[in-house]
Amino acid sequence: MSASIKRSAYSALSRHVWAVGAAIVLIAVPVAAATALTWFPMGLARPVDAAWAGPLLISALAAAAIALGLLVRLRFAQAEVIQGARFLLPVGIDDLTGLSNRAAFYRAFERALDGLAERRSFTLMLLDLDYFKEINDSHGHHAGDVVLAQVGRRLRQVCGPEPEIARLGGDEFAIIISSSSQAAHVLTACALISAEIAKPITVDGKNLNVGVSIGFLQVDRPSGDRDELMRRTDRALYAAKERGRGCAIAFDVEMDKDVAQRRFFERELRGAVLTGEIDVHLQPIFASDGETLVGMEALARWNHSYRGAIMPGEFIRLAEETGLIHQLGNMVLQRACRVAARWPGLFISVNVSPVQMRRPDFRDVVMAVLAETGLEPGRLVLEITESVMMDDPEKALVALRGIRDLGVQIALDDFGTGFSSLSYLRKFPIDKLKVDRSFVLDLDKGVEAATILHCVINLGRALGLRVIAEGVETAEHARFLRAGGCHEMQGYLFGRPVSVAEFEATHGLAAAREREVA
Ligand code: C2E
Ligand code: MG
Ligand code: MG
Repeated sequence: MSASIKRSAYSALSRHVWAVGAAIVLIAVPVAAATALTWFPMGLARPVDAAWAGPLLISALAAAAIALGLLVRLRFAQAEVIQGARFLLPVGIDDLTGLSNRAAFYRAFERALDGLAERRSFTLMLLDLDYFKEINDSHGHHAGDVVLAQVGRRLRQVCGPEPEIARLGGDEFAIIISSSSQAAHVLTACALISAEIAKPITVDGKNLNVGVSIGFLQVDRPSGDRDELMRRTDRALYAAKERGRGCAIAFDVEMDKDVAQRRFFERELRGAVLTGEIDVHLQPIFASDGETLVGMEALARWNHSYRGAIMPGEFIRLAEETGLIHQLGNMVLQRACRVAARWPGLFISVNVSPVQMRRPDFRDVVMAVLAETGLEPGRLVLEITESVMMDDPEKALVALRGIRDLGVQIALDDFGTGFSSLSYLRKFPIDKLKVDRSFVLDLDKGVEAATILHCVINLGRALGLRVIAEGVETAEHARFLRAGGCHEMQGYLFGRPVSVAEFEATHGLAAAREREVA
């Protein structure tokens, strides 16, 4: 129950207690005084006839007894009401936001469904706040409550008094707008809602930011029961989250097919992780001279029984969403380190998902793998993306420092595609900048791309970081990068990702290993 409701219930009752008390005292005191004067004149003139003395005394005593009884009763009632102040609220109201609660929302939903028989259409919207969990985790539940209450107020402000607006629980809201206008109009309404919610919310002097993802469904004829319509709208919401949050998407029948496919794919991926169908391919990394092999990047491949090799772009996201990334990532890390341990002098780069980094025990995992495979920590490079730093900078800083303390290097992958600010680059313990391949591939497009790439390389060098370019496909790219001061290069020009055996053979590493063993 919210503190403000408790407070208002308490003060309402306090006012009653004191009003009744004062009224009774105002009656009882004069009556008692008059009686006393009648019985005990104390030398004064009798103000009241003695015949009235008896009844007056009885009235005074009765008034005092009633006063006392009422005061005691109200005191008890006060305690009870403070316990159950929610009953003072109209039934069906969410006490944090003052919007409808889930039960009231479902009643309104049923009414909207009944209205379909009279050709009254409606639009159902489901909203989920973006980054709310981060606010709750890093600023506490009080801040979370303030944000939810403020979002509730803003929704009401944007939508006006009519639509049914509810908080279904947590950071999930729902809106029913009667009459389903065109999708474009609904999208305009969604844009207004998003813009309003995106404005900073001040909590204890700090400006906090949340966004909102919206899924909506326009219902103009009976086409499923309440749960089915909720599920479809939820599917649209999921698509909005998937598209990168902060957007609104209408339900589309294709989405249902996606769900079935996704479930199937998820089951298969789970099996692949368990049975080790996920393999590690290696791509060489060369020094800027273009001749010296200095290391390799481990890239996951899924050797599907009948679909063949599946690229990470198709399954890493799903692995992250389902939590399978922990097992998958550990497996890649372990295999990569084991292979690299055989080839002294080369470093191995392993991609780490932000989901893995968020696990408090990730450092322990890295430490255990290093111990088990015998790889020197300085030969392991963990590639993180800018989103690691953006999600929760403070936690990420602690996690990265912990990993760096092991002697492991950190590279910032796909640099230039995210939103990291320069201050993050200075603040975070990063050893390498891996310039995104799009910058290199854009080189073919003209002078402007060359200027940008030049700036990015210089930026990395100025910060004292090693700069590596990926996506180096032509000799021309390599020449430009070498002249620009890039330290390392990776790309199809030097070799595509290949199996460990092929990598070993191509780069004459088997011989190196044999020499090592001898
Ligand atoms: P990334 O880390 O940026 O990896 C480089 C990607 O660029 C690889 O794609 C690689 O095959 C491709 N590439 C390399 N050279 C060239 C080139 O010259 N031209 C072009 N056009 N592409 C080139 P891949 O293997 O499909 O991996 C895609 C992404 O999937 C990786 O991008 C990485 O973010 C992610 N990934 C791969 N393996 C893992 C893994 O084990 N764990 C995690 N968390 N992510 C992984
Ligand atoms: Mg990478
Ligand atoms: Mg990359």
